[in-house]
Amino acid sequence: MRTFITFLIVTAALLSSGCATNPVSGQQDFVMMSEQQEIALGRSADAQVRKQYKVYDNPALQSYVNRVGQNIARHSHRPNLNYHFTVLDSPEVNAFALPGGYVYITRGIMAYLNSEAELAAVLGHEIGHVTARHGVRQQSAAQAANIGISLASIFVPELNTQIGQNLTNLFGGALLSGYGREHELEADRLGAQYLARTDYDPQAMIRVIGVLKNQEAFDAVVARQEGREPSHYHGTFATHPDNDTRLQQVVGEASHLTVVNPVENKSEFLKETDGLAFEDSVDEGVVRNNKFMHPALGIALTFPPEWSVKNTPTQLIALSPKSDATIQLKIDDKPSGTVAEYVHRTIGNGTPVETLEIEKLHAAIGSANNTVLGIIYYDRKAFLVQCDAKTSAAIDAERTAMKTTIRSFHVLSAAERKQIKPLEIKLITARKGDTYAKLAQHSPLGKNAESYLRLINAQYPQGEPATGQTLKVIE
Ligand SMILES: [Zn+2]
Repeated sequence: MRTFITFLIVTAALLSSGCATNPVSGQQDFVMMSEQQEIALGRSADAQVRKQYKVYDNPALQSYVNRVGQNIARHSHRPNLNYHFTVLDSPEVNAFALPGGYVYITRGIMAYLNSEAELAAVLGHEIGHVTARHGVRQQSAAQAANIGISLASIFVPELNTQIGQNLTNLFGGALLSGYGREHELEADRLGAQYLARTDYDPQAMIRVIGVLKNQEAFDAVVARQEGREPSHYHGTFATHPDNDTRLQQVVGEASHLTVVNPVENKSEFLKETDGLAFEDSVDEGVVRNNKFMHPALGIALTFPPEWSVKNTPTQLIALSPKSDATIQLKIDDKPSGTVAEYVHRTIGNGTPVETLEIEKLHAAIGSANNTVLGIIYYDRKAFLVQCDAKTSAAIDAERTAMKTTIRSFHVLSAAERKQIKPLEIKLITARKGDTYAKLAQHSPLGKNAESYLRLINAQYPQGEPATGQTLKVIE
């Protein structure tokens, strides 16, 4: 213990700031950083975030989020900090804060919110992390423990997502696994207080955590379908907020501040999200009802209807309903020689190969063990549709579906090119008899459309629209 204390003092002397008064508690924190240092740190990390991630190109929405955020920040424990609120062009469901007042919210999370009060709750939670100096306190703790992580690696300590992963890579350090339950509860408590002081209902904090929890539960289902890790929003823990007594308690502390007619601004908020991009951008191709279309490559491929298709920047892969077979699309430069020769080179000489023309393109399909391989030559490229199964029973069961997928390969038509636009949120008014199942039939979201529609309208898992209700749909 003795060496530990010595180390702390030495480190503190080096950084020349030592203890600082915590803006929230008024007590002395062991924080090895002045406010100026904290702001400088935030500023340099903000530059990194902006290098790595696109800011969402929608000035009206940026200014709306900024207006809501600045209003809450003015009612926070650190009203004099210079706050920056930025909507990032990412489909991930996330929000995070850097030390010094830099707050980010993804367009992905915006899609799941349904009122200005809920937006205010997300921003209030992040502002709570800033005012309580959680990032800085964690950093000091990490320095004191001599973990050896770089300064920059802990700004975004709570993201188990692409952004977090990329920032980890970006800064080359270990990402701490989160602010932890106590800091998250403190951010919820402060956020609820700021909501009340800004004339919102502090209970919006619990509601929005419920929304995010439902989204997370659903994402876990989709992640299983797609064979990937589910993502987590940092503020959500194991239990649903309805059963979370600690959360109820910390948010409840703000109840004495509650105003009579709290601001909800549901329709104002929804208007702002009309036209908001949903899910991926089109640069890497789009998947609409299991048809993959890529504008730059000029090609399309239709996967079997019940399969889950995942399109990432590095991979296009579909997984069978029983998770025992996959279909991947790969691209190579067109080699010299025939397409049948290429099939043989890839899966072995002597394997049976069927040559064919798919819309006048040279193609071949070969079979070997638990693999069916289709290769199509088009425009100086060789497209490989590689189908693999775990067992011979699975390959036999899926062979027809795999060959149908290979034969579905085609050059994009003009009509299809027109369909390639980003998915967008559109507002409609529910008519008598509208159900999510019915709306899902006209949705481009594929087999999970019904769940997505319920989630973005905060009626997951069982709700149905009421006649006259403003609904978000995806087009
Ligand atoms: Zn948090």
